[in-house]
Parts: sequence; C-alpha cells; structure tokens
Amino acid sequence: MLRAFLEDTSKKNEIKKSLYKLVHKQGPISKKELLTKFQVPKTTITRMIYELEQFGLIQVSGYGEANGGRPPVLYDIVPHAGYLIGIEIARTHMNINLFNMKIEMIMQRNYSLTKEHTPEKTIKLMEETIQDFQEKQQLSKDDLIGIGIGAVGPLDRKKGIILNPEAFPGNGWTNVPVSEILSRTFPGKIKLNNGADMAALAEYYFQMLDEGNILYCVNGYAIRCGYISEGGFLNNKEGDSNSYGHMIIQPGGRKCTCGNKGCLTAYASLNAIFEKLEGASFANKSQSELTESILKGLREQDSAIQDIVMEAAHYYGMGIANMINILHPAEVVLHGKLIYQSDDYYHKVIQTAKQYTYSRKDHVVIRKGALGENAASIGAAVQVFYEWFDDQSF
Ligand SMILES: [Zn+2]
Repeated sequence: MLRAFLEDTSKKNEIKKSLYKLVHKQGPISKKELLTKFQVPKTTITRMIYELEQFGLIQVSGYGEANGGRPPVLYDIVPHAGYLIGIEIARTHMNINLFNMKIEMIMQRNYSLTKEHTPEKTIKLMEETIQDFQEKQQLSKDDLIGIGIGAVGPLDRKKGIILNPEAFPGNGWTNVPVSEILSRTFPGKIKLNNGADMAALAEYYFQMLDEGNILYCVNGYAIRCGYISEGGFLNNKEGDSNSYGHMIIQPGGRKCTCGNKGCLTAYASLNAIFEKLEGASFANKSQSELTESILKGLREQDSAIQDIVMEAAHYYGMGIANMINILHPAEVVLHGKLIYQSDDYYHKVIQTAKQYTYSRKDHVVIRKGALGENAASIGAAVQVFYEWFDDQSF
C-alpha cells in the first residue's frame, strides 16, 4: 500500500505525500504542530490524516502533554507499512541491512570484502541477502520501498555507477552499474551515493536538525568526508567525498596515492600510518590485520606505534581545522576504528583541530559518530526514501 501511495505522482497526492514525509520526520506529532508546519486549512489536514490512517500509513501512537485541556493525539507513521534496504560498500567490508519505515533495523548482515570479491560476486551477494531478508520476513515484492547504497567514490550518482575507486581488494571495480543491475531484480527506487555523505545524513536525520550543518569525517584507508548544510549535500554532480583528504597540508611533502605531494591522506589516513610501520611483523599483512596490530600496539603502550599514531592524529586535526575554517559546521562527527578504539588518538585529533580553528573554537562540537558502523547504511536507507518526494530536502 505504501509503495502504491508513493508511486502516485498526481498533484492531489503530492500534498498528502508531503504530510506523510513530515510525520515521518517529526512524528510522533500532534495535529496542532502539523498545522504550524503545513500551511493548509484545518479541515484539509483532518481529512488527509484520516485518509493516511485508512491507508494504513500513519496511526495514533499516543498522547502529548495536556495544557489545561485534553491531551493532544499524537500521530506517527506505521513502521511496517514498507521496508528499506541500506547498503554500505567500503573497501574492506559491506553491510546490508533491512529497515522498517521508522528506520529501525530489522535484519543485519556484515561481510568482509576480500580479493575474491569482484563486482559480480559482490552484487550477487547483495541480491541473495535481500532475497533472504524478504523470505525470512515474509515480505511481498511491493513491501520493498527502495534500496539505498553508500559506496566509496568516485561515483556517477545519476546513473548509479561506481566509477573507479582506489584500492578495492577485488579486481574489476571500474564502471560498475550497480543500480541498474539491482533494478533487474528489485522494483522500487535504487539510489547510489557516497558512503561518507550517507553517514552524515544518518547523523543529521537522527538529530532531527531542521537547520544547521554537519561535517562527517571517515578516517580509514583514505580520508573521506560528507557535508550536509540546510538539508542538502555539498557533494553533488562529480563531487567526491575522497577529495577532502587531498587538501595539501605540506607543500612538497610526502607522495600521495593521487599523484600529488603533501596531501592530508598521505599524513593522516590509516594507510599513511601503515607506511610508517617498520619491522618484519608488519610485512604481508592485510589492511585489517595492520589496523589490529596498531590498536594492539596502542593498548600495550608501544612507544614507536604511539608516536606514529599521534603524529597522524596531529595532522588529521589540522586538516579538520582547515575544513571547519572553510565550511563552518555546527558539528563535526568523527568515524573510524582509531576514533572509536583509542581515546588518546581521539582526544589528540580534537585538541589539534580546536587549536587551529580560527574563530569558532567554542561553537563547533566535535564528537564521535553515534551510529557507529551502521551509519552509512542507515543514511542510504533514509536517502532512498526521500527519493520518492518532489522536495527531497531532509
Ligand atoms: Zn592526494
């Protein structure tokens, strides 16, 4: 029923869809609050609420605080009226999650991506996982509202193509039309975007920020960032979330994978830390094994590893200060294994970032991601839901 409702693009239905979108974002919400945000007569709101209830799309979820009179009825969306898939494709792993319309996670699968994971094998894994979710939850074809994918760029967002990401372990990751391939099996919307932007959206969405802006920084093999301002992304068209990591912080400095010298990524990414590790114990190890070795070294207070990591933290903080000075975010959200697992690293990054921030040191909040490893897949599910509306601002 939800799919049919969303597919109806008639003018008459668009206004009802806007109301549904508002209840989705703000619910539980009273009729009075809806009226303040939705400029239509009270009788129109009452009729639309009635119809959405009849369709099984919204429901009474409780009662608000009584201000002298009767407590107001609160409306919210029906969680199981439809389902969304959120996928994150990172360099070393893939998360595939099933969400209901409240963006509550119903089922979850995590996969490591290895040398064997060609695009064909990876997309097949997506198809099988989604089909398995559908069977286990007994979902009909129409129950699936959309599939959102957050991936490492560069991407062609419009056509849903992963172009030529750097350093995937498997071969063949060039010009992969992931959206088109999935659309052969699954109806509904499919939307591909940068993983870092999707993670930014997830943090933005769950805080219900009506305004303001958020910068989301991922430090992994490379450095990727997503930025949302006033309900929209900064990265669009060809804009790629990897580009933030290639700001120059040391003219003529270390050689970067992009061909330039002195990029932030060459000083502050996990890969930059790997390059500095010396000794036979680090030879021939995969990225995830090296990350574990670093974390172990930090736990055991290995001073050589501590020095390397703290230097990287210093550069990372400097890069983040540069971004703050240009973008003026209200919040900076940090994500990555070192951020979550090493307090020393995390505090060093914040301290340096604040040190080099120009004028708004005390205004900008710098914190860890609240949604952890699932942020990108959550954001991907939220974005594909918004694809159904004329006004796609968050
Ligand atoms: Zn570079």
